[in-house]
Amino acid sequence: SRRKPALDEKLSSPLQVFGQAKKQINGIFVNIQDYVANASERMTDMNIECPDVINEKELKSILDYRSKVKGICEVLTRDHMKVAFFGRTSNGKSTVVNAMLGDKVLPSGIGHTTNCFLQVEGSQTGEAYLVTEGSKEKQNVESVSHLAHALNYEKQLNEKELVHVYWPKDKCGLLRDDVALVDSPGVDVTPHLDDWIDAHCIDADVFVLVANAESTLMITEKNFFHKVSSKLSKPNIFILNNRWDASANEPEFLDQVRKQHMERATDFLVKELKVCTAEEAASRVFFISAKEVLQARVQERKGLAPNSGALAEGFITRYKEFEEFEHKFEECISKSAIKTKFLNHSQQGKHLIDEICKIMETIFKRSLEQTKIKGAQKKEYQEKLNFTNQQLENLTNMLKIKIRNVTDDVEDKVSKALNDEIRRLYVLV
Ligand code: GDP
Repeated sequence: SRRKPALDEKLSSPLQVFGQAKKQINGIFVNIQDYVANASERMTDMNIECPDVINEKELKSILDYRSKVKGICEVLTRDHMKVAFFGRTSNGKSTVVNAMLGDKVLPSGIGHTTNCFLQVEGSQTGEAYLVTEGSKEKQNVESVSHLAHALNYEKQLNEKELVHVYWPKDKCGLLRDDVALVDSPGVDVTPHLDDWIDAHCIDADVFVLVANAESTLMITEKNFFHKVSSKLSKPNIFILNNRWDASANEPEFLDQVRKQHMERATDFLVKELKVCTAEEAASRVFFISAKEVLQARVQERKGLAPNSGALAEGFITRYKEFEEFEHKFEECISKSAIKTKFLNHSQQGKHLIDEICKIMETIFKRSLEQTKIKGAQKKEYQEKLNFTNQQLENLTNMLKIKIRNVTDDVEDKVSKALNDEIRRLYVLV
C-alpha cells in the first residue's frame, strides 16, 4: 500500500468518509428492503383472507416498490467515486494515474499512447484482469506489458471504447476506498469530444487536466473543458502542470514561469469556466512531476529510499506538492460523490416510504370502515377484521416510525456532509 509520511496519516481520511457513508446508507436501504418485503408479504396474505380490504392496485404498488428498493440497493453497492484525466497526448496522464496508484499499472511512454478509455478500479477477487466494452469475458492481466499488449494488439479498439482494468485492491489505497480512475486518449486526437463526455464523463466527480508545464494551455485542452462545463454545472476541475522537473534546468526562470502558469490557469478556471473562486483556484492548480513521484513510489515498494534514483533539484518540494494535490483531490472527490450519489438515493428512499405510508393509511381507513359496516354481522368475521386491523396498525406504525427514522437519519448524514459544500456555494454566489 502507499506509504505516507506520519503527518499525512490523518489527512488521508476524506476518502474513508465516502466509504463510511456508503456503508451506512447501504445498511439503511437493506433495512428498508426488509420492511418492504415484510409489508408486501403480509399484504399478500391479507389480500387472500380479506379481499375487500386491500385492492389489487395497492398490492401491485407495494410489490413495485419492493423491486425499486432492491434496485437502489444494487446501484448503491456499485457506487464509487470517479475521477477522469484529460489532456494532450504525452502530457503524462497515464503517468499521473500510475503515480496516484503508486505503481506502474497503466502502460505509458513512447509507443503506448492510450487509444481508448481505460477505467482502473478495485478488483473484488484480488486478481488483475480487464474487460472490454460489451464483453463479459475477464481477460487475465499479469503485468503492465501484458496489459499494453492486450490493449494494443489483441483487439482493434475504438477511441470511444471503455476498457475496465480491475486491479487488486490491496495494492492501492485509492482502489480500496472505491475510487475509479479514468484515463483518456489525448484531447488532441479526436473531433468527438461531445460523445466522450456523454459516454464517460457525465458521472465523473472530479476532472483532472494534465497539462504540460513546458508549454501553455492549448485551445484543444480549453475547448474540452468548456464543453464539460456546459454539460455539467460547476464541475470540479484540477489542473496539474506536469513535467515540472524540467524547471530544475532553468532555476532562474522558475518563479516567473510558475507565476505565469498560475495566472493563466486561474483565469481559465475563474473567468472563463467560472467553476470556482480565485481563492479556490489556489488549491486547484499544482506544479508536479508525475514521473518522479511514480519512480519514488516504485522504489518505496521495493523497500528502497524514495530518492535513491538520479533526481533533479527540487524533488522533495515537487513530491510534497503532489501529496498536497492528492489531499485536496481526496477531499473534493469524497464530498462531491457523497452529494451526487447519496443525496439522490436518500430522496428517492424518502419519497418511496411516503408513498408506501399513504397506501397503508388508505388500507387502514378502509379496514376500519369495514369493521363498522360489518360490525352487526357475524362475530367471527369481526374477529378476523380486528386481527387484520391490528396487523395493519403495526405495519403502519412500523413504516411510519421506523422507516421515517432511518430515512431522516440518511438525510441527516447527507446534509451534514453537504454543509461544507453549501457554504462553499454561498461563497461563490
Ligand atoms: P499520456 O499520453 O498523457 O498518457 O502520457 P504518458 O503518461 O504516457 O507519458 C508520456 C511520456 O512522458 C512518458 O515517457 C513519461 O515517462 C513522460 N513523463 C510523464 N510525466 C513526466 C514528468 O513529470 N516529467 C518528465 N520528465 N517526463 C514525464
